[in-house]
Amino acid sequence: MKIVMLPAVCLWLVFAVSGFAQQTPQSLADAELPSLLGIYKDIHTHPELSGYEERTAALVAKELRAAGCQVTEHLGKYEDSKLKAYGVVGVMKNGDGPTVLVRTDMDALPVEEETGLPYASKVVAKNDEGKDVHVMHACGHDTHIAAFIGTARSLGKLKDQWHGTIVFVAQPAEEIGTGARALLKDGLYDRFGKPNFALGFHDKADLQIGHIGITEGYTSANVDSIDVTIRGVGGHGAYPHKTKDPIVLAAEVINAWQTISSRENNPLDPIVVTVGSIHGGTKRNIIPDEVKMQLTVRTYKKEVRDKALAAIDRIARGIAAAAGVPPERAPVVTVRQDEVCPAMYNNPELTKRLVAVWKKSLGDENVEIVDPTMGGEDFSEYSLPDHSIPAVNFHFGAVDPGKIADYKKAGKELPSLHSSKFAPVPEPTIRVGIIGMTTAVLDLMK
Ligand SMILES: [Zn+2]
Ligand SMILES: [Zn+2]
Repeated sequence: MKIVMLPAVCLWLVFAVSGFAQQTPQSLADAELPSLLGIYKDIHTHPELSGYEERTAALVAKELRAAGCQVTEHLGKYEDSKLKAYGVVGVMKNGDGPTVLVRTDMDALPVEEETGLPYASKVVAKNDEGKDVHVMHACGHDTHIAAFIGTARSLGKLKDQWHGTIVFVAQPAEEIGTGARALLKDGLYDRFGKPNFALGFHDKADLQIGHIGITEGYTSANVDSIDVTIRGVGGHGAYPHKTKDPIVLAAEVINAWQTISSRENNPLDPIVVTVGSIHGGTKRNIIPDEVKMQLTVRTYKKEVRDKALAAIDRIARGIAAAAGVPPERAPVVTVRQDEVCPAMYNNPELTKRLVAVWKKSLGDENVEIVDPTMGGEDFSEYSLPDHSIPAVNFHFGAVDPGKIADYKKAGKELPSLHSSKFAPVPEPTIRVGIIGMTTAVLDLMK
């Protein structure tokens, strides 16, 4: 591990003022880790579903206050009235300078934990439908919270090394893609200032501990949720000629949608069209009146997204018309405006700048360029639709390199994020999160 060297004069000043050895992001991370591990295990044992982050938000608010932030709680305006506002913002001011937003997410998932860890979650909670579900931090948002608190503590102690305003944002409801939008709708930028830069991080289930993983440009996808109802004319299963069978139509439509990415689109611009749910019919010998489908559609560029969504509608209508479905029974295609998440775009200039910072603070060999994914991440909202606020969302490794090697040798896939068996190695994972975020902020505010 490299130690960042300060000029001798500066060192002398630090000694003279504090009477302690020189404090660095690395030494502060090490000093804070025992306490942060306690916080991590506490949060891991008490996970909360999206929109229900009451206990977690209160804990984060208390910690941000202790780190020297001016804290505002209960932020967020959701379209869904069932969700309560548990957003937390902590503002740390230190004279004139840029405003930098630092974000963690806070929510967990309806997954029954199977890690066998002594601090595994046994929590069962009611979901939106009032059903009992097991809850687990299966995406590692608990590591983010611990690293976020560690970053706030470190930057609170390194005020001789930065100037400006840090806006720490603890965001609820990332997993349902609505939390960031809810905070912005509640006036995040009007009340606390529009940031010059926005920084976020996420643990990575196939990256080794000690490493930062980063992608320049698009790193996660536009996520669109679409409901489609294929309407036909129902009747007896033995007399198909007297019906318009929506099940046969749905099968044709699903296959034709796959040609959007393979035939209509530039193959260098990815599109994923997944039909995740399909329901129709009640009995073998009845042709139903309709079939309902739920789709997730993933793209990067806006023009590709627009094209994909238009093609989904056009193909469904075209196939129905070709089958002789009357116009008044044409398919109904609804793009859910409450369930969109824009693509995450890591500003190239800022990414290059931070890669240089991390190579210095963690070592060249510990910074990896990783592939983008078609997953979704609503941290993208903070960059605004035109990407006018330069933003970077980076990964930190969560897996022991020996485990990666064992799985590779056995030809097996590691437990992914959202898996009931995903178990990040807490200490080194959180440590790199703190150092990565703290050194990034210091560079932007020096
Ligand atoms: Zn997740
Ligand atoms: Zn996540």
